[in-house]
Amino acid sequence: MKQLKIAALAGDGIGPEVMREAIKVLRAAEKKFSFQLGITEAPVGWAGIDAAGQALPAATLALCKQSDAILFGSVGLPDRDPTIPKAERPERAALLRIRKEFGLFANLRPVTLPKALAHACPLAKERQGNGIDILVVRELTGGMYFGQPKQTEDLGGGVQRAIDTMVYTTPEIERIAQVAFQAARLRRKKLTSIDKANVLENGILWREVVTRIGKAYPDVTLEHMFVDNGAMQLMLRPTQFDVMLCENMFGDILSDEAAALGGSLGMLPSASLGATTGGNTFGFYEPAGGTAPDIAGKNLANPIAQILSTALMLRYSFQLNDAAAGIERAVGRTIDAGCRTGDIFSPNEPNARKVGTREMGDAIAAAV
Ligand code: NAD
Repeated sequence: MKQLKIAALAGDGIGPEVMREAIKVLRAAEKKFSFQLGITEAPVGWAGIDAAGQALPAATLALCKQSDAILFGSVGLPDRDPTIPKAERPERAALLRIRKEFGLFANLRPVTLPKALAHACPLAKERQGNGIDILVVRELTGGMYFGQPKQTEDLGGGVQRAIDTMVYTTPEIERIAQVAFQAARLRRKKLTSIDKANVLENGILWREVVTRIGKAYPDVTLEHMFVDNGAMQLMLRPTQFDVMLCENMFGDILSDEAAALGGSLGMLPSASLGATTGGNTFGFYEPAGGTAPDIAGKNLANPIAQILSTALMLRYSFQLNDAAAGIERAVGRTIDAGCRTGDIFSPNEPNARKVGTREMGDAIAAAV
């Protein structure tokens, strides 16, 4: 059996606590679904600076390059970050560096609100239907955040002009569309492509290319939606969405809007994918939240975002769809059984039981 090589970089704050629970659950899934993992842990972020003088030590980067996927915690500590130059700070020196190094162009952010957590969602219950389950697929390396020219000019007389440029090429749109259609195939087979084709040249090209790529996926229902309407529909009728495909900036905004529906940052996993070569997709998997220094080291953090990130890893890097679904079902069952970390606890739920990080991990591992 091929061993799947994973670099586990826990990082700072709650990172090590939630990573420990994620590895516990992965080990349970490994037994149950018969695959073989080689997990190697390495320091990153302030843990990297303390161990080897750099947020992304050379040995950690080398480990990542020898691995099939990176399971990442989170990095950065607000009280220490300002003490070093910006370029050396963990988020820039580790996270952005890894994104660039591995060409991670597709960001996947699933938002799942189980029915049992209806109280944690800001929307009224009648808008939540049978629970919310959306996957936002965001292009991560193009568009307005990277297009050139990008500058601020002095026009004289105290007037300045700032310029950002939105640029997409057909290959960039094609590859992110492929990722989104393939992801839709693994879900409810509906794709909503978000654009602003009524105003932007980029939007017209985006729509044309996505429509063309969609012809190869006749089993997936494709619809197009303007981004302003998409933002509104997420609040009005979020249950209409399965996969939402967005360019970089629209995805940045809509993925956070969708995330708010999930109830807590502690519930939200994410995947950033690179190119697929020889059937293997290199991926970087991390919780959507940060290092939560306010609760670090207290057994209070919700490990579910990190645990669900392992499910994304099994699905998107290793095509172990049954094992991924097994972990997701175990999370669902644990929540249905009333296990709640502080961030998703409500005293109004009669069956809810407040548990710590470790107990939540134990319960999910047992449910697997
Ligand atoms: P944060 O996400 O760490 O925390 C925001 C709030 O959400 C806090 O109240 C925190 O307790 C809560 N929270 C987050 N994750 C949780 C979990 N798993 N369980 C329960 N509650 C949780 O954001 P912040 O406070 O703005 O940033 C703290 C540090 O994290 C900063 O140094 C920031 O730069 C860094 N950060 C790193 C990443 C990353 O590594 N990808 C992402 C965001 C922020």
